Amino acid sequence: MRLHEFPRYPLTFGPSPIHQLDRLTKHLGGASIWAKREDCNSGLAFGGNKTRKLEYLVPDALAKGADTLVSIGGFQSNHTRQVAAVAAKLGLKCRLVQEKWVEWDDPGNDKVGNILLSRIMGADVRLDPAGFDIGLRSSWEDALREVEEAGGTPYGIPAGASEHPLGGLGFANWAFELAEQEKQYGVFFDTIIVCTVTGSTHAGMIAGFAALQETADGRPRRVLGIDASATLDKTRDQVGRIARNTAELIELGRDLRDDEITVLEGWAGDLYGIPVESTIAAIKLSGSLEGMIIDPVYEGKSMAGLIDLVTSGEIPKDSTVLYAHLGGQPALNAYSRIFD
Ligand SMILES: *Cc1c(COP(=O)(O)O)cnc(C)c1O
Repeated sequence: MRLHEFPRYPLTFGPSPIHQLDRLTKHLGGASIWAKREDCNSGLAFGGNKTRKLEYLVPDALAKGADTLVSIGGFQSNHTRQVAAVAAKLGLKCRLVQEKWVEWDDPGNDKVGNILLSRIMGADVRLDPAGFDIGLRSSWEDALREVEEAGGTPYGIPAGASEHPLGGLGFANWAFELAEQEKQYGVFFDTIIVCTVTGSTHAGMIAGFAALQETADGRPRRVLGIDASATLDKTRDQVGRIARNTAELIELGRDLRDDEITVLEGWAGDLYGIPVESTIAAIKLSGSLEGMIIDPVYEGKSMAGLIDLVTSGEIPKDSTVLYAHLGGQPALNAYSRIFD
């Protein structure tokens, strides 16, 4: 099927807004920097990139007669919060496995921010001591089995919805949405900056832009994934695999080239979920110049990458850059002491 033929259950407000970041642009001395805002894409519990992915999973869940969405993430997972919101909206139950992905000794880590919101929305939140892993987990399979044994019909959504066959479609569609906005605003983004961890956001964009090139005037652009997993090889593999699967799913009609899949390292620090100096500087810069709030786990790291790539000239001064803001601000509550 072509992308527009896949069923999509609307969970977002429509196209997410794009706008210029004037003061950041001036501060860095060019390139011209814009943002596209998945952090305000939906009225469901603050939205975010996972809400957009879930638009393509929900029709499948409903077709299969599911009564419980089952998913997994860290204590401060944005993804599980968005699954909880979608379950609430659809009148389904929600079972969440929240693992200790991050050794962050904030006393509110398993209480405030995302996990608090999931509890408010009525999700069955279970804490698990297992550490960080972007792959498939046994604890998640246990949760699926337990729902079944209790007579329910679970629908499993893996971490970040990435290892789901339909997980890349949301951001393939994002590429088409952006192309429409480019026409509307008379702008062309030659460089996209996106944070990547479980991979299907970046991978979906790659497949979507490749499909767009086959249909439109085919101007080349770079989609630069900034790793925030600190397990680079795994993430690079996962992005490549999901990009190729998604390209096949939407009948791209050719294999993706390796040079279309770029995951850059240098801003993740040593561990997923632990901000480093450049992360904190990026959060403060974005907040103080633009009033744009970004988080210490994901977006602070991709913004640190953008700042360095522009400052070093790796992204040229005459570039027009789009920063994909993927959401994630609720986690800031578990990181308050950074800013004391
Ligand atoms: C999940 C998430 C990401 C990473 O997206 P993946 O599809 O997992 O690579 C980036 N930013 C935020 C705010 C997220 O919640």
